[in-house]
Amino acid sequence: MVTAEKSIIAQTSLSGIDSFFHSHRRHFTRIYETVIVGGGPAGAYLGYLLSSQGKRPIIIDQPFITKKNSFILTINQQLTQKYPFLHNIALKSHIEHKLHLISPSGYNAIFDEQYKTSFILVSKPQLTKVLLDMAIKCGAVYIPQKVVSIHREQRLWKVCTAEREYSAHILVGADGVNSIVRKTVFKPFQKDELAISLGYYASGFLEKATLMKFFNHRNGFLWIIGDGRRQIIGITDTLCNSNGLKKDLDEFLSTQCKELKPYKKWSALNPQASSPDFFKQPCTGNNWILIGNAAGHNSPLTGKGILHALWSAELASQALLASELRVYDSLWREEYGKDFIRISNQVKRFGRPSLLDNIIRYAHCSKSLSNIIFDLVTGDNKGISTGKRLLMETPRILFEYFEREVQEFKDQMKRNYRK
Ligand SMILES: Cc1cc2nc3c(=O)[nH]c(=O)nc-3n(C[C@H](O)[C@H](O)[C@H](O)COP(=O)(O)OP(=O)(O)OC[C@H]3O[C@@H](n4cnc5c(N)ncnc54)[C@H](O)[C@@H]3O)c2cc1C
Repeated sequence: MVTAEKSIIAQTSLSGIDSFFHSHRRHFTRIYETVIVGGGPAGAYLGYLLSSQGKRPIIIDQPFITKKNSFILTINQQLTQKYPFLHNIALKSHIEHKLHLISPSGYNAIFDEQYKTSFILVSKPQLTKVLLDMAIKCGAVYIPQKVVSIHREQRLWKVCTAEREYSAHILVGADGVNSIVRKTVFKPFQKDELAISLGYYASGFLEKATLMKFFNHRNGFLWIIGDGRRQIIGITDTLCNSNGLKKDLDEFLSTQCKELKPYKKWSALNPQASSPDFFKQPCTGNNWILIGNAAGHNSPLTGKGILHALWSAELASQALLASELRVYDSLWREEYGKDFIRISNQVKRFGRPSLLDNIIRYAHCSKSLSNIIFDLVTGDNKGISTGKRLLMETPRILFEYFEREVQEFKDQMKRNYRK
């Protein structure tokens, strides 16, 4: 239809009424059923789901060269089980991976097999490209332009880029944390609904592990993640508690990772709601829908959002295909919104620093304790709070701890006897 539109332009020019046409150009513009603003994981996947059902949405996405950051994402089992195609784009380097935790006071815990079997690493640009290709192959129209304004005119959405205006009945906001759609149809994220991350791209980190370091004074953490050739180093915290973030990162790197060679800085915002009330806000209204980061559908504990970017796209596609947009709000609340509310009710992001210290310190003494800390930091909370789980599993943890102590005592006796 874009071709048809071009041919209309050509014919009118030839017939010598181009000045008339140009002054009435918008009346000849094609009206799309659905315009998706943003072609990240959420927008691209929704584009694919709609086009595979015979719809022809347009996806307007900022051109790739204007994008600043390229991250490596950790993808857990829940996500790969729900979306198995992610296995096809896993980075090879994950096979060698371990998870290394450093507690606020400097205790260490290393997770080897557990991490290898539960996680894959994926490059975000590659994930986005794969999803966009799937959408385009099924018939979605891809427009690599930046949306600069949106308004409503005669019951249609008018979505404007620097080049032209697109008209559609339904507007989907899949345009991430700074969503222009969200600002137009609802309101921007507030300061206490955001987290900030900053860091470096670097080379030279020898440890083949994903490293996470926690702090006494931070809700977030520092991390190093790599694909074998280069590393991404970052530190994250809520925007309200972000003072001194870079200083903490630089201090850690200059004392603990002297071999690292940073070559480029990066920074990014991410939605991270601190109050359960955030998830009572609507994500759909009069012919609009918000999905993924634009909806703020990120884990309140870890800030991770790929699972919910794809999941929200899936639920939005069901609502759009049924022409019942308002169903979307009930669907996401039912499927994962309740979990978000429960998690954001649990005090701070990773609990008290003293608790983290003790769990990381004794993780090697008990398999159950090690599972609890692993699930906590990787965002898989098995549906119950960490405090409750600790309480429920205390007898088993104590048993495993003493069993280990006894075994160590026996080993020591044997060694002494041999001497
Ligand atoms: C540092 C960092 C690390 C992360 N690590 C993980 C992780 O390990 N695992 C995990 O699950 N999640 C992680 N996340 C979160 C995850 O990246 C996001 O939740 C996910 O990308 C959301 O997808 P989305 O499609 O909703 O938004 P985005 O990925 O933000 O995509 C939005 C798209 O909209 C486009 N866009 C924006 N404005 C416009 C405009 N005006 N016009 C046209 N296009 C526009 C953008 O160019 C982009 O392509 C991380 C986030 C950060 C910041």
